[in-house]
Amino acid sequence: MSKSDFGLIGLAVMGQNLVLNVESRGFTVSVYNRTTSTMEKFIADNPGKKLVGCETLEEFVQSLERPRKVMIMVQAGGPVDKVIESLLPYLEEGDIVIDGGNSLWTDTERRDAWLSEKGLRFIGAGVSGGEEGALKGPSIMPGGPTSTWEVMKPIFESISAKVDGVPCVTHIGEGGAGHFVKMVHNGIEYGDMQLICEAYNIFKAAGFSNEELADIFAEWNEGDLESFLIEITANIFKQKDPETGKDIVDLIVDKAGQKGTGRWTVMGSVEQAVPFSTIAGSVEARIISSMRDQRKAASQIFEGPNNWSFELKGLSKEDLVKKVRNALYASKIVSYAQGLDLIAKVGKDKGWSLDLGAIARIWRGGCIIRARFLNRITEAYEENPNLVNLMLAPFFTEILNKGQQDWREVVSIAALNGIPVPSFGGSLSYYDAYRAERLPANLLQAQRDFFGAHTYERIDKPEGEFFHTEDWPDLI
Ligand code: NAP
Repeated sequence: MSKSDFGLIGLAVMGQNLVLNVESRGFTVSVYNRTTSTMEKFIADNPGKKLVGCETLEEFVQSLERPRKVMIMVQAGGPVDKVIESLLPYLEEGDIVIDGGNSLWTDTERRDAWLSEKGLRFIGAGVSGGEEGALKGPSIMPGGPTSTWEVMKPIFESISAKVDGVPCVTHIGEGGAGHFVKMVHNGIEYGDMQLICEAYNIFKAAGFSNEELADIFAEWNEGDLESFLIEITANIFKQKDPETGKDIVDLIVDKAGQKGTGRWTVMGSVEQAVPFSTIAGSVEARIISSMRDQRKAASQIFEGPNNWSFELKGLSKEDLVKKVRNALYASKIVSYAQGLDLIAKVGKDKGWSLDLGAIARIWRGGCIIRARFLNRITEAYEENPNLVNLMLAPFFTEILNKGQQDWREVVSIAALNGIPVPSFGGSLSYYDAYRAERLPANLLQAQRDFFGAHTYERIDKPEGEFFHTEDWPDLI
């Protein structure tokens, strides 16, 4: 009997859809799932397809063509290690294990070392786009040795999304590079979603109807802001609840969860000392949204304007739409600048030689953050591969310079009307700090020297010379 080209372990929603995607490109796929009945149902639901259902891992491994290509699509964390451990007795030198889940990239580095010791090859691949992406074509971010990528390339390229005929997959770098970039991608997704939510809060508070909002987002989707998230947002505002006839968005509880990747990205930014205000603001916004009981109680205690109602006072609706659009666009640029900065910094530390333009290119399709804007990022890095900060690319500098006044006005309107805008506001503060020739850190250095003799540099002395004041005035 001929052997399968590819094997997949973990038949939950992502695994099933990836298998169907791989099979649809002409490959034969063996499948295994811890709970056998799930595998049996999957095989029964897909008659006539080139699928081989396996009840044991030994049978699964033996069904694969060598070098074996085994993709693991199980819950991230301990389950991935467990699956690898149980595979080890059956795999042979040169076989390839691919972890396609949302694994923490440092776990991927550990697994990479573990499997290479055993003579096996390992790819940690970020797979984006949710269940629909997995089925129709995801954006894939594989990390691992170049030679292993070359073996996997035909399958990855055939199953990935395509934009202008270009597959949304590229070899990201060695070791955990793929999962690291996927993690930051998820953080960027958090930021994009939060910025849209902040725009929504401002518009709703200003009295816009959901119908008006649907039109605004649909119009934005025709221009530079064109993206999957803007498009689905326009559609969300049109959706009625079949039970009550009301707009579904108004019936949904204002409480959001957050899984590992957003939090991990923010933690990584702190470890790497990369300013991360937009995405950090978005993670914080989700956390505070989940504190619903405390918010309810506090709303009865603390004074301030109601964040769902304000008067435009002389500003037309059209003007507000234009200003919020500019604030959103500018904040989005900051969010990507910060995310790419983190990628560049970790890439440099790890010696991954990452191509930021190519990374932006593979996000153009098959993932939640897909957007027209990403073409501009790719162009910016093609023009200047050593770009220090995305904001410094002339195209983005011009947008920031033109939009900055509107951005300030939107953040002011929000503050004056009690509307929390952690990501609009955090992005603007980053922009202002980044362009500030002078910051108040001179006072901070004085404080540190006062209580801890930490020393300081002086503006009137050569850089690198440190001073300490012995006789700060005594405390009274
Ligand atoms: P999931 O709910 O994260 O995981 C369920 C799968 O893991 C099932 O097949 C389950 O087998 C298996 N599993 C759990 N513990 C196991 C263990 N100890 N040993 C063996 N198998 C075990 O599934 P998912 O949502 O399809 O996601 C799969 C991976 O893709 C995750 O890492 C996830 O973060 C990532 N991802 C998900 C999405 C998404 O939109 N869902 C998008 C991108 C990436 P049983 O059937 O036996 O329980």
